[in-house]
Amino acid sequence: MIFENNLTFAASLDAQDPLAKFRADFHFPNSNGKEFIYLCGNSLGLQPKSAREVVELQLNNWQNLAVEGWFEGDSPWMFYHKELKELMAPIVGALPAEVCPMNTLTVNLHLLMVSFYKPQGRRFKIVMEAGAFPSDQYAIESQVRFHGYDPAESIIEVAPRAGEYTLRTEDIEMVIADNAADIALVLFGGVNYFTGQWFDMPAITTAGHAAGAIVGFDLAHAAGNVPLSLHAWDVDFACWCSYKYQNGGPGGISGIFVHERHFSDTTLNRFAGWWGYQEEQRFKMDKGFVPERGADGWQVSCTQVMPMALYHASLLIFEEAGFICPLRTKSETLTAYLIYIVNEVNKLLGKDLYQIITPSAAADRGAQVSIIAKENAKLIFDELVANQVLGDWREPNVIRLSPVPLYNSFTDLFKTGELLLRISKEVAG
Ligand SMILES: *Cc1c(COP(=O)(O)O)cnc(C)c1O
Repeated sequence: MIFENNLTFAASLDAQDPLAKFRADFHFPNSNGKEFIYLCGNSLGLQPKSAREVVELQLNNWQNLAVEGWFEGDSPWMFYHKELKELMAPIVGALPAEVCPMNTLTVNLHLLMVSFYKPQGRRFKIVMEAGAFPSDQYAIESQVRFHGYDPAESIIEVAPRAGEYTLRTEDIEMVIADNAADIALVLFGGVNYFTGQWFDMPAITTAGHAAGAIVGFDLAHAAGNVPLSLHAWDVDFACWCSYKYQNGGPGGISGIFVHERHFSDTTLNRFAGWWGYQEEQRFKMDKGFVPERGADGWQVSCTQVMPMALYHASLLIFEEAGFICPLRTKSETLTAYLIYIVNEVNKLLGKDLYQIITPSAAADRGAQVSIIAKENAKLIFDELVANQVLGDWREPNVIRLSPVPLYNSFTDLFKTGELLLRISKEVAG
């Protein structure tokens, strides 16, 4: 598509957008009655207008049924997770039995590593991406220590080549192959939070399995963003948060994936709790933990009804939108348009003030464009916010803008470019 940097063109793309109507399903932040252009859905997705109603339904259940709510009402809490599983499965490309909503993301990362990081003899190392989100770094480091190993010796980080910002798949594959006999676990992000790079997950999974390792993914920036086929790709386990691209609300509930292949493996360690116990027998309160079959067997505590209701509200919107495929089609065009717009700003300034570090190939990125501002970066970012364009700032000089296909428009991106040009002229002369 040949893009144009003008409002008429952006508006014409919006007029042809089959998802345009979903924008009205979300609350946009505003100040003095003026709505922000919101490009921060990679950090916290917007509130679906339906969230209040879905939560209110559960508040009413609690009010009117109290403890009976576990088994009474339209959707008894005891089985509420099953409704969500059906809606979560298409988002990550899994069987409903392979996914379950529970806890929060880093907690689930720990619980899954308890099961799937099984260091033994020479095979104790973990391969991960350099510069992973800090919580993942800390979780992995502390798991390694928990097993009595030294993180410095046990964690192999794959880093970009000198002068590059993103990883090459062949480099990831080579690190895995070169260390094949030593690796217990390959644990990668799906989409990197800093650069927006979408890693070649099937290639990483194949390489990890060829090395004899278990392969897991943190999908915080991938779930609800890019099309995933966790089951078909043969991924061993994964987890994600619901509050970024899936609009599940701040601190919202996390989801896990465990491949069907592992359902009958009785050798897996678990940090168990009563809610992971076989559902039919749970209330016998017997001694000796017997897990429920599937991802549900990793549950620890009883159903978190309110966070699940928030996630539910958003999942229903995904269902109505046709889950990921239609969103992805729009998303690729949105990011391509944003990259074009930023390059136009450089052109109109007559200098390359902005450098995009997100991959230029649509297949290698999610719904995020990470931009280095070479001068006055923080000042530029602050001016964007002051003028009601809300992106996200990362030290030392990166502005992340995330156009989300469910609620962002091409006009949002044109207006952002117009503002960026004006600010750049003011602050960078
Ligand atoms: C957002 C994010 C987290 C946050 O973890 P919480 O436990 O939800 O606070 C962790 N890992 C990655 C990769 C993330 O992007």
